[in-house]
Amino acid sequence: MITRFAPSPTGRLHLGHAYSALFAHAQAADGRFLLRIEDIDTGRCRPEFVDGIFEDLAWLGLEWESPVRRQSEHWDDYRAALARLDGMGLLYPCFCTRKDIADEVARAGHAPHGPDGVLYPGLCRALPAAERAERMAAGQPFALRLDMGRAAARAGTLHWHDRAAGPQRAAPELFGDVVLARKDSPTSYHLAVTVDDALQDVTLVTRGADLFAATHVHRLLQALLDLPVPDYHHHRLLTDETGKRFAKRDRSLTIESLREAGHTPAEVCRLAGFS
Ligand code: GLU
Repeated sequence: MITRFAPSPTGRLHLGHAYSALFAHAQAADGRFLLRIEDIDTGRCRPEFVDGIFEDLAWLGLEWESPVRRQSEHWDDYRAALARLDGMGLLYPCFCTRKDIADEVARAGHAPHGPDGVLYPGLCRALPAAERAERMAAGQPFALRLDMGRAAARAGTLHWHDRAAGPQRAAPELFGDVVLARKDSPTSYHLAVTVDDALQDVTLVTRGADLFAATHVHRLLQALLDLPVPDYHHHRLLTDETGKRFAKRDRSLTIESLREAGHTPAEVCRLAGFS
């Protein structure tokens, strides 16, 4: 198996990350374990957190392959994927602000929700070509959205397999017209992760159950971009004693603070559920 752990350097790793990294590493068994730095959100990612990831994983005793892929060094790969989707007529520029979307949802009086929140109400999907061109020429910031109706129709029925939950029929339409390039970043999570897993020959994607639904979108992108389909294993999320998920803001449970409090790597692995 070729597996990967793909954290975003927006804070120090916590116990939940340790679980996820150890899980991926264990699944790689005699295969290959990759580490990928998912730093497309240049406003929130910090170099010191990248160093922290290396430091914490090495301290836990994990070894990964070099070189480590950093998404912020590969914008061209995401642009190439976008160009292909655009060539199929599946993308459109979206100039909406959060407020535009909220106003439209309020006006419509109903707000269908998907796994990531309220569905985009489609305001920019049918903009006349001339208006699009004018707004782009005027330098108005825009995101690129996938026209989900067209994309799903083009791809037809799709399936994927989760090692814990079994066979799945892909339901990307749950997400509506997802953003594939953000106003502030030349890609979005969905596009970057799908392109990278393919480029890195990942055969088993392991990640938390919170990203289960996202795989529906990734499966669709694989079909549209002719990418291989890995196997998936969405694992349980580690929670604290009150049943709450660990978050980056819970400083007391970062690997760094556990180390500073005198815990050994073996103890932290045990706390994360691995012996
Ligand atoms: N970068 C994502 C995160 O830190 C994980 C992405 C993935 O494993 O697909 O939550």
